[in-house]
Amino acid sequence: MAKITRKSPPKSRATARKAIKKSRGSAAARPGQAQAAAKKPKPWTPAEVYEAFSRFRKANPEPKGELEHLNPYTLLVAVVLSAQATDAGVNKATRALFAVADTPQRMLALGEEKVRDYIKTIGLYRNKARNVIALSEKLIAEFGGEVPKSRAEIESLPGAGRKTANVVLNMAFGEHTMAVDTHVFRVGNRTVLAPGTTPLEVELGLERVIPPEFMLHAHHWLILHGRYTCLARKPRCEVCLINDLCRWPEKTV
Ligand code: SF4
Repeated sequence: MAKITRKSPPKSRATARKAIKKSRGSAAARPGQAQAAAKKPKPWTPAEVYEAFSRFRKANPEPKGELEHLNPYTLLVAVVLSAQATDAGVNKATRALFAVADTPQRMLALGEEKVRDYIKTIGLYRNKARNVIALSEKLIAEFGGEVPKSRAEIESLPGAGRKTANVVLNMAFGEHTMAVDTHVFRVGNRTVLAPGTTPLEVELGLERVIPPEFMLHAHHWLILHGRYTCLARKPRCEVCLINDLCRWPEKTV
């Protein structure tokens, strides 16, 4: 005959209450946790990331940024002007501006009022004209009229932040930086390649997962992908190069 065993009762009411609460808590947590786990997309494997960037590279081996510029200085100015504006809108204004002012010295000679006239089709142009003059003054006073090559120095210029530094370091000096604009932010999150709630989080996530051999061009591939394929409102999943790898639950393929 099998031996009957009995669990010994809780030693006190308080202990019993605690035990019930604990068991209720874990029972309630389990279905929720299971659901969350089921919903959470799997992170990309290194092989998948490699495959995605190999496809980007094959399709466009030498991607180019769309902000027109003539040298590191005009690139810096163009990026400062591009905050909350489109590249096409900035190019329209800077073509004429850079024809007369492609160095900090020439920009100062032109003066803030004339700079304002050249860029008045760009949003926040008054503030931006002030920054272009101030950053030109600082380049001459502190950096011999050249665009500095360190992040901290670029970020110290009026109107320049982390994104500006990343673009300049990457495009002018060939560094493996990742500038996160609205397109890169969306692609990083949607695909789950590098999810994050801030541009910095996405930037660091992308730097962590993208192999070094792709980093020089990764920023442009992702911008172009977001601008022409993974559109904000209606992503073109049917023609997307990485639609089999993308983790977005709402993708249309
Ligand atoms: S499959 Fe669709 S959502 Fe995913 S990256 Fe491609 S375009 Fe964007």
